[in-house]
Amino acid sequence: MAEATTKTNLLGLTRAGLEEFVTAMGEKPFRARQLVKWIYRRATGDFAAMTDLGKDFRHRLAEIAEIRAPEVITEQVSADGTRKWLLRLESGQAIEMVFIPEPGRGTLCISSQIGCAMDCTFCSTAQQGFNRNLEVAEIVGQVWLANRELGYSPDGDRVITNVVFMGMGEPLANYRNVVPAAELMMDDLGLDLSRRRVTVSTSGLVPQMIRIAEETNVALAVSLHAPNDELRSQIVPINRRHPIAQLLAACWHYVEKQNARSVTFEYVMLDEINDRPEHARQLVTLLRGHPAKVNLIPFNAFPGTQYRRSSEAAIERFRDLLHKGGVIATIRRTRGDDIDAACGQLVGRVNDRVMTRLGQKTLIPISVERT
Ligand code: SAH
Repeated sequence: MAEATTKTNLLGLTRAGLEEFVTAMGEKPFRARQLVKWIYRRATGDFAAMTDLGKDFRHRLAEIAEIRAPEVITEQVSADGTRKWLLRLESGQAIEMVFIPEPGRGTLCISSQIGCAMDCTFCSTAQQGFNRNLEVAEIVGQVWLANRELGYSPDGDRVITNVVFMGMGEPLANYRNVVPAAELMMDDLGLDLSRRRVTVSTSGLVPQMIRIAEETNVALAVSLHAPNDELRSQIVPINRRHPIAQLLAACWHYVEKQNARSVTFEYVMLDEINDRPEHARQLVTLLRGHPAKVNLIPFNAFPGTQYRRSSEAAIERFRDLLHKGGVIATIRRTRGDDIDAACGQLVGRVNDRVMTRLGQKTLIPISVERT
């Protein structure tokens, strides 16, 4: 993103916020609806092009407002068609964003923080440490930008059908900005993504999971990765604060409150760590009879990691044991690993790390909100 100006970045305003903004300019609230359509449905970045707004209004908008998304530093395209962008934010920081095309669907994987403080031992973003939360405009701006990069046209088919908060960061640790950003993605005048197609993936921030069940309506994915507290606390340190029983209770609460079909549980397959038959059986005990789906993710390596990916045979055996136990499970196909765009490989550029990371000895309360 270019350096901050004093102009208001409209990508940071929800529909209600835009209404307030235009009203303060002396315009009717419905102008906000027109703006939402121009900005999101037509992916417009230029007020001059918004021809159904009065000339004078467009001039005044250009003076005090802007539409400013992160800027592309580099783009890489994988042999399988997956695309990864390194995006510049203010003050030299950078995040990564990935687009995964599949027949009949296009998934954009976006970041919610610069770095991450959760410190999961198998994730390369964790090695980067944490700098700060992304603002609403920086989150929504990723989707806006991706549409433009992908040659989206408002008259053709959608290019991005799904958005997943599975890039860098722990989205629920940035609740204040992630929830309005998700709302904007689902605004029917704008990007109009259906509620099942915007997925927030969390390492298990239980209080925020309970809160989000009340406040918005997105699909929930939970990074479980281990079927018992001893192992989970080692590889997903937030488990020491919110153990599995609490986490699952929050999941079932979510499904009930949201009338959702199920929660997706992500489970990274780490050779000899969490991939044994006994782990599959423990997982069955936890999930059988509940509205749960398990997504097995073959581990993606990164420099310096101590882990290895489970063998294909071990992953298939694990899935079969889950099926036998009555738990639905799928294996996530690895995409974009030739350009380091696969799950857990996103690193960006994180300057001035400020936080104590969660896995380090003591559990110091992490600040989940930037003040
Ligand atoms: N912080 C959120 C979203 C981030 S990543 C969360 O924890 O859910 C999206 C998924 O990729 C998570 O399930 C994460 O645990 C998984 N992941 C992280 N590192 C990985 C790796 N090296 N290989 C495979 N999956 C990984």
